[in-house]
Amino acid sequence: MSDAPAKVFPKRVFSGIQPSGGLTLGNYLGALKRFAVAQNEGTQTIYCIVDLHAMTVWQDPEKLRHATRELAAGFIASGIDPARSVLFNQSQVPAHAELAWIFNCVARMGWLRRMTQFKDKAGKHAEEASVGLFAYPSLMAADIMAYHATHVPVGEDQKQHLELTRDIAIKFNHDYGVDFFPIVEPVIEGAATRVMSLRDGTKKMSKSDPSDQSRINLTDDADAIAAKFRKARTDPEPLPETLEGLDGRAEARNLVNIYAALDDISPAQVLAQFGGQGFGVFKPALADLAVAKLSPINAEMARLMQDVAEIDRILGNGADRAHAIAEPILDQTREIVGLIRSRGR
Ligand code: ATP
Ligand code: MG
Repeated sequence: MSDAPAKVFPKRVFSGIQPSGGLTLGNYLGALKRFAVAQNEGTQTIYCIVDLHAMTVWQDPEKLRHATRELAAGFIASGIDPARSVLFNQSQVPAHAELAWIFNCVARMGWLRRMTQFKDKAGKHAEEASVGLFAYPSLMAADIMAYHATHVPVGEDQKQHLELTRDIAIKFNHDYGVDFFPIVEPVIEGAATRVMSLRDGTKKMSKSDPSDQSRINLTDDADAIAAKFRKARTDPEPLPETLEGLDGRAEARNLVNIYAALDDISPAQVLAQFGGQGFGVFKPALADLAVAKLSPINAEMARLMQDVAEIDRILGNGADRAHAIAEPILDQTREIVGLIRSRGR
């Protein structure tokens, strides 16, 4: 490649969430809450309900439609303003799927085979998994690159996929001798970048986990939230005074991190407040805090879901705005790789 200085891309934030079930506390703290922060900092923010990603495992069509609208309500209730951020569902903007195909031809089999998310989700049944589940990271790279996004706020579990996105951009730029796709920065920040299951401190909390007891859903009411924290797995020791005291105590660490992220304080500050106290004191305090923070979101989601026509209108507007950004980038991509477009098409 030439010695010309690398192109500087303007800062643009993109991220997505799958409508693969209801939103969890993990999605809220690891993603949604931080999406609103990025929007409020005044950066251009593009947020996508990635329905094509959800399809990589079986989705009942009626449930998928419902989950897509409910997720849109979750975005808005968490502070995403459809006038300031671009909010839409992926399948309404065809650039994602087309660019994903081009990236399927850039990414290597060996790169995708290393992805731990595929191994976790396919488990022992890799031969029966969909081709889409295997190729998921190419579509994710396309989601981001279709907008020339430079910053992607995500939870810790998506770090490996973002590294793959960088590898795809680097290989594309290299193979075609261009400086066309930016090399994205993962933005993985805060006390709760990896919220763990309430049943198993070694597994991340997921909306697709078969056990509802493993997670707090944004649609859970106060009683359900309190009951789930009360039953959350912990050890018999009181909370330590210092962070080092959490070593080897995954479940305790998880609850401390959740408290810190909900209250916008550091885990050390949580321990300064609760060190020496048992879970009999800490769990109810955590439940009260979670209810105080989540119930306004929960109520707003329920209110928004009463008018699905309005949600569909918001998603349609967002899709028009997303399409206007992505289409010229896709057009240039087609030109770079040698795909002919007849005039006016
Ligand atoms: P699924 O189980 O269907 O994969 P999920 O709960 O993992 O669902 P995704 O839609 O895959 O949710 O991810 C949406 C965003 O939420 C991503 O940025 C991801 O990193 C973040 N996220 C998911 N789970 C957690 C978690 N337990 N802690 C922090 N962030 C999370
Ligand atoms: Mg996931």
